[in-house]
Amino acid sequence: MADCIFCKIIAGEIPSKKLYEDDLCLAFYDIEPLAPKHFLVIPKEHFASAAEITAENSSVVADMFEVIAQLAAQEGLDGFRVVTNCGPIAGQTVHHLHFHVLSGKQLGSFN
Ligand code: 5GP
Ligand code: ZN
Repeated sequence: MADCIFCKIIAGEIPSKKLYEDDLCLAFYDIEPLAPKHFLVIPKEHFASAAEITAENSSVVADMFEVIAQLAAQEGLDGFRVVTNCGPIAGQTVHHLHFHVLSGKQLGSFN
């Protein structure tokens, strides 16, 4: 999608520090990490947020969670948090579905 930062990262038009890539999704480190380990997993198909997940397209979410588990093991994460912000009120700033994976320190409670 035009003017989507994450679509541009997928297309290689914006550089990123990639951790993993397959036909369906991409994982790369967050540019402004909120924890010692903070990476993002995104689908290659553009969805604005988790609010656009349906019975027809939800298999990509299962794939992304398989990748998260695989990367957590690969990176030796001793516990981790998966977060997706959905809409501006939740703090979503990039409107391309993404799962934050946070680890490497004791994480605080939600607010
Ligand atoms: P949100 O606020 O939408 O939940 O999360 C968007 C995340 O994308 C933020 O944590 C932000 O630091 C990250 N981000 C925004 N632009 C870029 C970029 O160009 N490269 C990378 N690697 N991360 C980005
Ligand atoms: Zn996009």
